[in-house]
Parts: sequence; C-alpha cells; structure tokens
Amino acid sequence: MIQAAAVRAGFLGSYHAGLMTSTKTFSMDDLVALCKRRGFIYPASEIYGGLNGFWDYGPLGTELKNNIRDAWWHDMVRCPPIGPDGEPISIVGLDSSIIQNPRVWEASGHVDGFNDPMVDCRETKSRYRADHLMVLGGEDTGERRLYAYLAGDDEGRDRAVKLLGKYEKVSAEEADWTDRPLVDLPAAALERVVGPDTKEPGSLTEPRQFNLMFKTFVGALQSEDSAAYLRPETAQGIFLNFNNVVDTMRVKVPFGIAQVGKAFRNEVTPRNYIFRSREFEQMEIEWFCHESEAATWFDFWCETRRKWWESMGLTSDSVQMRRHDADELAHYAKEGCGTFDVEYRFPFTSPDFGELEGVAHRGNYDLSRHMEFSKKKLEYFDQPRNERYLPHVIEPSAGLSRGTLAILCEAFTPDEARASKVYMKFQPRVAPIKAAVFPLVNKDGMPEIAGKLYETLRQRWPIQYDAKQSIGKRYARMDEAGCPWCFTVDSDTVNDQAVTVRDRDSLSQDRLAIDQVENWLADRLK
Ligand code: ATP
Repeated sequence: MIQAAAVRAGFLGSYHAGLMTSTKTFSMDDLVALCKRRGFIYPASEIYGGLNGFWDYGPLGTELKNNIRDAWWHDMVRCPPIGPDGEPISIVGLDSSIIQNPRVWEASGHVDGFNDPMVDCRETKSRYRADHLMVLGGEDTGERRLYAYLAGDDEGRDRAVKLLGKYEKVSAEEADWTDRPLVDLPAAALERVVGPDTKEPGSLTEPRQFNLMFKTFVGALQSEDSAAYLRPETAQGIFLNFNNVVDTMRVKVPFGIAQVGKAFRNEVTPRNYIFRSREFEQMEIEWFCHESEAATWFDFWCETRRKWWESMGLTSDSVQMRRHDADELAHYAKEGCGTFDVEYRFPFTSPDFGELEGVAHRGNYDLSRHMEFSKKKLEYFDQPRNERYLPHVIEPSAGLSRGTLAILCEAFTPDEARASKVYMKFQPRVAPIKAAVFPLVNKDGMPEIAGKLYETLRQRWPIQYDAKQSIGKRYARMDEAGCPWCFTVDSDTVNDQAVTVRDRDSLSQDRLAIDQVENWLADRLK
C-alpha cells in the first residue's frame, strides 16, 4: 500500500503509452485488442456496459493465470527454494475465507489505516486519487490558475496545456509551464485549480481519506452489527491460522505459510487495464522467523522473488528492485528492514517501473495485534532456543493479476513478417496451449492420424486440434495464442510415420517420428 504523497513520475501513465525495449515497440491498445480477440481478458459485465475496475479472464487468460499460479505454488510451496544455510526451507499452503470476523481488520490496521487520499470534483462528481493528480501552471504568484490532469495521461496534459495557454494568452511554443503534484500545493491554492474535466477553477474538494475496503453484511439483518468486509489482502487469513498450522503441521520456525486468492480494494482510480483493478488475485507468503534472523531472511526473499520473476520469462532489464522511501512505508513496516518492491517496466510506466510484488519486513506487528485484539496467545515456543516469542514476519506479496499482465506484456512480440503480425512469446511453462495438432487437409487419412495424436497428447496437456482454413491461418491463430509448437500431419505421414513440428519462435520446421511426439513434448515441458 503506497502511502506516499508524492507521485513517482510516469508511474501512473495511461495505457496508450508505447513500450520500447531494445527489441520491440508496441502500444497497450494493441495488447488489449489481442487479449480481447483471442480470449485472454474481457471487460466484466460487458453486455451491460462493463463495471469500472473489474475484468473477466477468458479461456486462454484463465489457463495462463492458472499456469502462473501453479508455477508459483510449485516453486514456493511444493519444491521451495534452498535457504541461505543450504537446507531446503519449509512452506505449507492455506486457503482461508474471503470474509472474516470484522475485528480482524481493526486489528490489522485496515479499518484505520487502509486509506488513500482522494479529491472529489463538485461539478462532474468524478473522484480522483489526490496523489495521482498533477497540476500545470506558470510561476505561482498566488493568483494564477493551475490546470489539473492525471499523471501519465498524455491527452489530459495536452488539454491542460491548451486551456492554460488560452487563459494566459500564451502560445504553446512560448509557454514555460511547470508540472507539480497536486498534493504539494498549499490548501489555499485549491480554489485556483481547474479540475481534469472542468473549465473553471474551484470545483475540487480538499483531499480526504477514503477507506479502500468493500463493506458487506452477513446474514439477514443489514445493520452495523452485521457489517463485514471483503478481504483487501490474503495475508491476514494466514496470521489468523498461525496457531492452527503450528499445532497441526509439526512445522518449526523458520517456516512459511502461503496462500493464493482474491483480494478486493475499492480503488479510487482503477486504471491501466488489470494493473489496478478492484478485484484481483494475490500470491502471498508469510515467512515466520526469529527476530535475530529477520534481516538475513529479508535479503533472501528479495533475491529469491526477483529471480523467480526472471525465471518466468521477465527479462532482467525489465525487472528492478526498489526500496520504499520512509514516507511510503505501510502501517506495519515502520521498523525493521522496510520494504522492497519487485518492479516491472510496464508499457504504461516505461521508461519507469511499476510494482509487481512487495517484500516487506512486517516485524511481529500482525501477530501482536491479533493477540491483543483476540486475547488469544499466539507466541511460539522455540525448543532449540528454549524461548517463547512472537516470530517476525517477512512477507513476499505478489500480484497474480499484475504478474499475468507483466507476462502478457513481455510475451507480446510484433513481427511484420508473420501473417499474424504479432506473436505471444510465452515460456512453454505458462503457455495456455502447449501444442496444436493439424491435419494438412481433411482427407486421405490425415484427420484420422491427427485425431489419434491429439487424443493421446491431450490426456497430458492442453492441446488444440485445428482443421479449419489454410495452414498459414492456423499457424497465425496459434502464434497469437502463444502456442509454442504445432504438429502437422501431411501426405507423407502415411509413408514415413512422421509429422512436421513447427517452432513458434524460430519458425523452423522439422520432421519428427509420430511415436516420438509425446516424449519430445514431455522433454520440453518438464
Ligand atoms: P499499489 O501501490 O500499486 O497500490 P500496494 O503497495 O498497495 O500496490 P500491496 O498491498 O503491497 O500493494 O499488495 C501486494 C500486491 O498486490 C502488489 O504488489 C500488486 O501486485 C497487487 N495489487 C495491489 N493492489 C492491486 C490492485 N488494485 N489491482 C491489482 N493488483 C494489485
């Protein structure tokens, strides 16, 4: 949770911005269109006009997201990394309720502290995050107008430049304007600010704190007594079950508890596609350790998590670690080693980076607060140390939805030479379709052989069979879906018992014995 007032330049750009790396340039609009066209992501309740901040995952998007989730679960829970002492570490899984006793969120600090500053526009009734707004103006004499726009929204800034030029009677070439974060202005200056969607100043309210938790009611009586919240993070469910896990799983500190699941935040300005939505998924680990070892584990987790994202195909020059400034730290992270973010260079943040995962040293804040609020003992007895204590916690908290977006951005590869003009270069591990099987034409025994191969392969992996249209069009469809290999049964297959395997990235086409295909694929999907 970013508490900082200052806007980091470029962090909140609109998704129209283009991504430029050494090898590719594309606009987010192209990626969003492909995701819609090929069934990765759709706007939620689209036939009713959608609902801001909510998205649905289509058939390919669901497979992709599940593959990322499963890879995380495999690499963190089932086969967790080797610890700093060379021994395998221990992590167990959990799946806790989305709705918990509302006291949980008082104890965790979310009722009082989970706020973003927001301003309302009295004229348009729009609501903005105060720390997302910039103002444009000349030297501030205390009288001149300032024009607000959303940070990173190029069109909004152009509008502000135009209106300001007209008002100050200065042409764009002569203009010498300065961009400042709205939150840096003195309160009195607000009456001179023209809102992002208005023409006259004075419509913006002062920033107020807005709680991001979704409220609901449990049971038939809809009163404050039955009020509850949809969880804004999965982490608290883990702390609530700390004793249960220690008592039932024979785990010993240091160890971790991991959980993947939905979280809900009533974001003031959901934006940048699935980067900031109101319903999203997190993959969180709470790593419990002795206070004296917290710094070592913090370094370990920062390094482990950065490497993991790189192992998922995010290139090292698109990923960086950033330490939170003191004024950004969340309520639990004031002491200890602080927080590092694993950041990715998204197209809308480029050349800057946006948060993918936070690794925080939470101290023993959560366990001590739950102990205080629930009046239940949550201390751990450490036999080797002969010491009873509240473990410290290192929390690697990753966004599954944001991770899916980063992997989509990384995979999107324009290629004018291909029929599809673009292909999705997913790692085979996360690719939603692992391979496709085609009969070259629908006759001469080819569909029968291809059908048999398809039946065999799909017992083990998500495979597609496609017999429609030209082979070029079928390759193009698979390139857009990011399918790494296509096996084609042709007229030679009957004689040589072999198929052509076409590689998505190199475009090479090789012959492979049909009875070798399953092993060949298994080798590559290990
Ligand atoms: P931000 O500063 O972008 O609001 P945060 O610091 O509040 O994020 P955390 O509370 O640390 O985020 O949550 C952990 C992870 O959950 C984030 O790194 C991000 O990947 C994901 N996440 C948080 N809020 C959202 C959201 N509104 N939409 C999608 N993913 C989110």
